[in-house]
Amino acid sequence: MAQPAVTREDTRGIQGVLIDVPPTVCGRVLATRGTFEVVVTCPKCARLHRHRGVGIRRAPCGRTYLVRIRGKQVRA
Ligand SMILES: [Zn+2]
Repeated sequence: MAQPAVTREDTRGIQGVLIDVPPTVCGRVLATRGTFEVVVTCPKCARLHRHRGVGIRRAPCGRTYLVRIRGKQVRA
């Protein structure tokens, strides 16, 4: 009796992979000397946080979100 080859199933929890999608917050550009900062209203603590640019940022309160600039669309 031939036994089937041992198939090793890689049962990784695919359903367990959760991508934490950060919320998008729109900020205002605050121009300073030689550079600019983006001021956003934090969806967690409702305070203003400053960031040096757009993208995924982590607030001082620990919240991670996607910073965008309000009313300004960047075209390639
Ligand atoms: Zn905050």
